[in-house]
Amino acid sequence: MPSQFTAQMLRRWRKYIEGLNEVLPCDRPVRVERVSRSIDWGFAETIKTPKQFLIRVRNDATWGESLDSLIHEWAHARRWEGKDKDTDHPDEWGIEYARAYRAHRAICADWSQLDDAVVQ
Ligand SMILES: [Zn+2]
Repeated sequence: MPSQFTAQMLRRWRKYIEGLNEVLPCDRPVRVERVSRSIDWGFAETIKTPKQFLIRVRNDATWGESLDSLIHEWAHARRWEGKDKDTDHPDEWGIEYARAYRAHRAICADWSQLDDAVVQ
């Protein structure tokens, strides 16, 4: 069952993606889609195409799961190892994940209304 983002959540979702693009640009544009299709592992996946990274986040993920999955995948896009090595999560991925986590904290700093917006 898809979790519906409210209009405020959608605005924040777009701002959040803009913020990640600004603070942590990847070597090609990142497009983010919320999809109803199943994903092999977890809530999200990253696909590299010649022109962009496509991050797909399942639309039945909660708000918190969506943000958590997005910064996880963003770290993959920043330190691309190839789809088959996606689950290896080497140290270099961990460094990008730490950067994405800090960006997350900065972007969410002024969000006080959504209790589940903070990824623990
Ligand atoms: Zn991963």
